[in-house]
Amino acid sequence: MKTILRQGFEKPDPQSHASQGLPPSVDELTYQWIVSQDDHVSTNDLYLSDIGGCPRKKMLKLKGVTVDLSQHAMWHRMRMFQQANNVADDLAEAFHHDKRLLAMEESISDLLPVNWGGRFDLLVLWNRSRFWEVKSSHPNAIRYAQTLPKRTHVWQALAYEVWAGEQYGTEQPPIVHNADRGGENPSIVSEIIMPEDWFEMRHTIPGNATPDIVRTFFADLKDVGSLQIVNMCDAMLELEAWLDDFKARDIIPPPLDRAPNHRTSKVSPHETTKEGGEYVPVEIYMDRDWRCRQCDYCDTSICEPPKGTTSVLEYDRKTNTWHLKKNGRPYLGEVLAYVKDDLRLSSIDLEDEGEGGLLA
Ligand code: SF4
Repeated sequence: MKTILRQGFEKPDPQSHASQGLPPSVDELTYQWIVSQDDHVSTNDLYLSDIGGCPRKKMLKLKGVTVDLSQHAMWHRMRMFQQANNVADDLAEAFHHDKRLLAMEESISDLLPVNWGGRFDLLVLWNRSRFWEVKSSHPNAIRYAQTLPKRTHVWQALAYEVWAGEQYGTEQPPIVHNADRGGENPSIVSEIIMPEDWFEMRHTIPGNATPDIVRTFFADLKDVGSLQIVNMCDAMLELEAWLDDFKARDIIPPPLDRAPNHRTSKVSPHETTKEGGEYVPVEIYMDRDWRCRQCDYCDTSICEPPKGTTSVLEYDRKTNTWHLKKNGRPYLGEVLAYVKDDLRLSSIDLEDEGEGGLLA
C-alpha cells in the first residue's frame, strides 16, 4: 500500500535552505523566535544570576567570545527555553488564579549595588509574602535531588531578599522552586534560611549597600543564614574584582579547578524494598567543577578545565563512620569546608570522627 505520509527529521541548514529559496527548518524558525523574545535588556555588567557562576565564563561572555553550538545543543537549548517559559508562565497564572500573585518579573536593578542588575520571577503570598524563583530542572536532577537547589540559585534568591525585601515588604524567606521540565516528578520547593532576626534587622542595612558593607553586617554572626549571606557577598566581590581586572587590563580568569562533589544513596527503612527511605550522602570526591559540565566553552579551544575524579571520604554504613580514602588527604581541607558550607550536607558531622580520625 502506498503511503501518503512522508516522515523524517528536517535537516536544519538555514543557509542552504535560503540559497535554494526554501524557508528555514521549523526548528530553526522556532529557535530564532524564542531567542528574539528574550527582552531582558540591561546596561549592567553583572546580574544576580551570575553570583556563584564561573568568572572566566562571565568575562568571556563580556568579551563577546561565542561558541558555535552543535545542532543537537541548539535544539536542546531551544526546548529548555520553551519549557522554562511554560513552567514560569503557568505558575504565575496559577498564583494569579488563587489570588496569590503580588508581582512578577520586575527589575530591582535600582535597588542593587553599582554594576549589578537583576529582576525577580515572582512575588507571591505563600504563607505571607515572599520572593519565588522558579527554575526548570532535568527530571533526573529532581529525582535524585543531590544537587538541588543549586548554590547559584540560592544566592540569587537570597540577593532579592537582601537588596529588595524591605522595599517589597516581604515577610517570609525567599523560595527556590525546581520544577521538573520533563513532567515526571513533583516539584522541589526550598525555603532559603535567613539570618536569625533578619526581618527585624534588615532596615539597618543602607539602601544599595555594596556587597562589602552587607558582608561586614553578617561576618561576626554564626548562624547558617548569616554564613550564606557572607558567602554570597564573597562570590559577588570575587566577580567584581575580576570585572575590574578585565576592564582595566583585559584579563580573563583562569579555568576553574576541580571541586568537591558528593554522591548520595537511598537509605530505606525496608532495606529489601525500594519503598520509602531517603537519600543520604555516602561519598565526597573531587571532580570537574559542575559549572564546567554545563558550559558551552568546556573542552573547546576556548577552555579546557582539569578533569578526573578522586574519592576523598566514604561512608561506612556498618560502622556509621566516614573514612578517608588513600589519595584523599590533600583535599581534606577543601572537603571539610564544602561540608560545612553546603546546606544539603547538614546531616554529616565529621567532628565526631574520633581520635586519630579524619580531623587528626
Ligand atoms: S569550561 Fe569551566 S572554567 Fe571554562 S569557562 Fe566554562 S565554567 Fe568556566
